[in-house]
Amino acid sequence: MGTMTADLLESIDEWGPEKIVCVSDPRTGMRGVLVIDNTARGMGKGGTRMSPSVTVAEIARLARVMTWKWAAVDLFHGGAKAGIRFDPASPDKERVLRAYVRRLADQIPSSYVAGLDMGMTENDAAIIQDELGDRGAAVGVPEQLGGVPYDELGVTGYGVAESVDAALRRAGRSVKGARVAFQGFGAVGVAAARRLDEMGATVVALSTSRGGVHDPGGLDVAHWLALRAERGDDCVLGVAPGERLAAGEELVLDCDVLIPAAIQDVIDAAVAARIRASLVVEGANLPTSPEARTVLARRGVTVVPDFIANAGGVVAAAFAMDARYSAFRPDPAAIFEAVSSRLRQNTDTVLAHAESTGVTTHEAALDIATERVRTAMRLRGRLPR
Ligand code: NAD
Repeated sequence: MGTMTADLLESIDEWGPEKIVCVSDPRTGMRGVLVIDNTARGMGKGGTRMSPSVTVAEIARLARVMTWKWAAVDLFHGGAKAGIRFDPASPDKERVLRAYVRRLADQIPSSYVAGLDMGMTENDAAIIQDELGDRGAAVGVPEQLGGVPYDELGVTGYGVAESVDAALRRAGRSVKGARVAFQGFGAVGVAAARRLDEMGATVVALSTSRGGVHDPGGLDVAHWLALRAERGDDCVLGVAPGERLAAGEELVLDCDVLIPAAIQDVIDAAVAARIRASLVVEGANLPTSPEARTVLARRGVTVVPDFIANAGGVVAAAFAMDARYSAFRPDPAAIFEAVSSRLRQNTDTVLAHAESTGVTTHEAALDIATERVRTAMRLRGRLPR
């Protein structure tokens, strides 16, 4: 769903949403929404977001992204997303969260399983389970409750690194010695840097919202991982002037691989024209504008799209979905193995499809996802005959 018009019914298209449920509770001030976008390939699954500005349109757009992400990675869940309009830093968070899931007790877990997104932690997932008295109500619960703490494991960043290696191999190049620049050194950036360092890549730049550091000869990744663990985003504050980066400079440095792993909308057509990397692997969601994708494609820069490269989290969430009622904890090694094989294969498939059809890699990825969803809808008799 691209845009939501004043009339919600007007904004429903051929894919969905199948169901939008709004809930509220005047006593706690809770207002929330659940959007089930498309379940042709399986039950709707996507994280639960808590922020003071959540809108129905935002959650519907994210639910649609989940429909494509599950289909693109070829796992059998459908698109869904939930939102609670509330400040996650408020001391009343737990009361609001409990009120939200109580109101949705007829939907969770039969139509929707809660998960982590902005403003939600592993502990909140545990609260949701507790409120509904059902182990199936949420994924992302702490390890101590038998859950799969997939954020903590760093599976998304690990998958981004696997995707980088697959794309380089496809181009006949090696990850060993490849010079990589990162924008964003949070959950995704940290885990991707760790894995790429293990694989022999040279990290030449990294940044946080507080600044960036650059060394063309290669940064000491172990040092920066330790500093980041200690100081968070402030890790880059003491950088010597010669190594310091101005905001956004990391995107246009001389390097082989660029990994945007921070926020959306950072690469527009003008930035795209200046990018010197030959491979961009999108760790963040929506870092490039549609115009930027066209510029990059024209300049021969390969882009691995966000919902292909950062799908490690949904692979882990699929394991967590299966583990909800099991007494056994899933083996993290099996999760990493699945992330690696799926993301490598998917990176290859999407790049090959783009090459053979002449469309951008984003269009290629969307082609594959929409075709899978359309086929599932046809097989289920959900399309007009
Ligand atoms: P995070 O909050 O842990 O880290 C974000 C990092 O980006 C921080 O270091 C922050 O300082 C930095 N940053 C923010 N604005 C910046 C700027 N203007 N310039 C440079 N650095 C900046 O978030 P995360 O979980 O690592 O998520 C990063 C991106 O990856 C988001 O787009 C998110 O939607 C996407 N993503 C995350 C996951 C996941 O499993 N965590 C899964 C799929 C997609």
